[in-house]
Amino acid sequence: MIDSHCHLAGEEFSGDLNDVITRADAAGVKSALCILESENGAEVSRAAVIREAWPAARFATGVHPHHAGPFAGEPARAVEIVRGALEATGACAVGEIGLDYHYDFAPRDVQQAIFRAQIDLAAERNLPIIIHTREAAADTFRILRESGCSRAVFHCFTGDLAMAREALDLGFSLSFAGIVTFPKAEALREVARQTPLDRMLCETDAPYLAPVPHRGKRNEPAYVTRVFETLAELHGLTREAMVARIRANFTDLFG
Ligand SMILES: [Zn+2]
Ligand SMILES: [Zn+2]
Repeated sequence: MIDSHCHLAGEEFSGDLNDVITRADAAGVKSALCILESENGAEVSRAAVIREAWPAARFATGVHPHHAGPFAGEPARAVEIVRGALEATGACAVGEIGLDYHYDFAPRDVQQAIFRAQIDLAAERNLPIIIHTREAAADTFRILRESGCSRAVFHCFTGDLAMAREALDLGFSLSFAGIVTFPKAEALREVARQTPLDRMLCETDAPYLAPVPHRGKRNEPAYVTRVFETLAELHGLTREAMVARIRANFTDLFG
């Protein structure tokens, strides 16, 4: 299994990284895609520590919409920082990038400019993007269309069926996190049921969003197994068959 989105370079894991990786391995989770904040030098440099401890780990980096504010009026500066982080870490994707109108930590026009600039950088480098979007679906789709973006995954997808269809129609993938295991998430399980098998990924978004029965604790890559099991159940497949599918999807998108 692979955890397609986690933040292992975050402070939350600095004390027991090796134990976290050992538990992942014991659970059958053999790799993870670690998201690095490009403008956070300490986090970017921890990629080397993770690679040393977990050679199969992969990386993606970008400027999160929460951190777009300091780049107001300077999208080119953001791009140069992301470019540097991509090169320093050998990242296989630009992300997570996007729009977050729930928290609005940065002005919306600034979030949009920084999102757009990073989509263009990904196109220039022939890399897929990892999208974070919250309460901003219309602007997210508008910008993706205008940019001609064709390779992307919506991480931690929690949208409704209409939003899922729009993303799938544009050729994008949907990544499901532990939320799909929550008792009240029947609508999201229906979205997962209707998502084609070749367009889905599984993630933890660790340290956030622990699945049942770990809710409320720090999340970690080992717990992605529950997401695989839930998706397998929804599609009437064995876990092994779902794992093989998602491995192929991951390789298709990230190489
Ligand atoms: Zn996110
Ligand atoms: Zn994330």
